[in-house]
Amino acid sequence: MTFLMTEIIRKKRDGLTLTAQEIEHFISGYSKGDIPDYQVSALLMATVLKGMTTEETHALTDSMIQSGIRADLSAIQDLKVDKHSTGGVGDKTSLILGPIVAAAGVPVPMMSGRGLGHTGGTLDKLESIPGFNTQLSLSEFLRQLQKNKLCFIGQTKEICPADKKLYALRDVTGTVPSVPLICASIMSKKIAEGIDALVLDVKCGSGAFMKNRKDAAQLALSLQLVGERAGKKVLAFITDMSQPLGLYCGNALEVQECISILKNEKRMEWADTRELSLQLSGAMIWAGGKAQSFEAGLLKAEELLANGSAFELFERVCSEQGGDLKQLPKATQITEITALESGCIHSMDTEKIGIAGIFLKAGRQIMSDVIDPVSGIECLLKIGDAVQKGQVLFKIHSRSGMDVQESQKLLQSCVSIKPAPTPKVELIIEKQWSSKRNIQ
Ligand code: URA
Repeated sequence: MTFLMTEIIRKKRDGLTLTAQEIEHFISGYSKGDIPDYQVSALLMATVLKGMTTEETHALTDSMIQSGIRADLSAIQDLKVDKHSTGGVGDKTSLILGPIVAAAGVPVPMMSGRGLGHTGGTLDKLESIPGFNTQLSLSEFLRQLQKNKLCFIGQTKEICPADKKLYALRDVTGTVPSVPLICASIMSKKIAEGIDALVLDVKCGSGAFMKNRKDAAQLALSLQLVGERAGKKVLAFITDMSQPLGLYCGNALEVQECISILKNEKRMEWADTRELSLQLSGAMIWAGGKAQSFEAGLLKAEELLANGSAFELFERVCSEQGGDLKQLPKATQITEITALESGCIHSMDTEKIGIAGIFLKAGRQIMSDVIDPVSGIECLLKIGDAVQKGQVLFKIHSRSGMDVQESQKLLQSCVSIKPAPTPKVELIIEKQWSSKRNIQ
């Protein structure tokens, strides 16, 4: 049966349901290069606006998996567990929890992505470590996993090539925030990557694609249903993204924060990064069968962080993958943004903070943009903190001579300060241990 791409676009534009065959036609045609970016962009935008049914989402996920191969990790006996975040600002937990969970004996095949829209990506962060190679073959990935129980790689050309192309296109066409598109993108990769269980960090708030709890819960449920349909255990957290996570946003800066946390250095400004990494680790250790309960997994995670085992493993994995942690690049220009009034930090437009990072080249505006690893933003205050007029809110880290005016303007306007006290934000909003079981 032949299909016309224009008809498929028209159907979705008019809010109709696509058949599995129509979805397969567009995914396989786009992967092979037979359908141009402009037609796929139109279909993606229609999908953002009109949505997809559960059946369409399942068909989209299946077609994306079938665009490539499934990794065969059956040589590894233990349950393999990965984590995936739906995307945030300063969201760097993968670099901390990967080593903690692997140190607990659970293999973590961590296949990550690049920054998407205003959010950062694990691959870009890792590549800010000089020499770090994320482009390993599947056989090298397997070898590293067997040796260290942890390997960080980018999507290989064999795994979900359709998602790889779509992900890059969505990044630059304003078509990221859609439950079915996010769900198919994440779950196709995770299922093809050969995992047994997945811990999801579904972000919610001004810096997430899902701005409110209802949308975040819908995305979490949709992700769980797709994963469970494929026989995977999927534990979901809904966590706060109404302010950046931790102290730093920007690639090398975030790696530095992770190293400090892995060395068990404690600072108020990154207490949230540490806590979330531990919570997600606890769930992964439990899902991997190395603890009897989530609580026992959490205790184990705390111990492996405190006794240095996780840092030792991180250093080993970095050096196996060619990375030199001692050569992490640093900014040579710091620009301060100060508060224009006194009061209490009431709210933040965290997406704007992510966009300020894009203007600094910590993220991409177009597909071909090259990231500057040293650029980023230091976020010194949290919602609920008292602030004095003239106090430093943010520090922009950049190379000497870089024009940072656009970012400065955005950062100056992204914090709301009010006279009345504002309560601190809850980091963990909800936990869902299965599509049928809600905790909290
Ligand atoms: N992460 C992904 O892998 N895909 C998305 O669409 C969003 C977050």
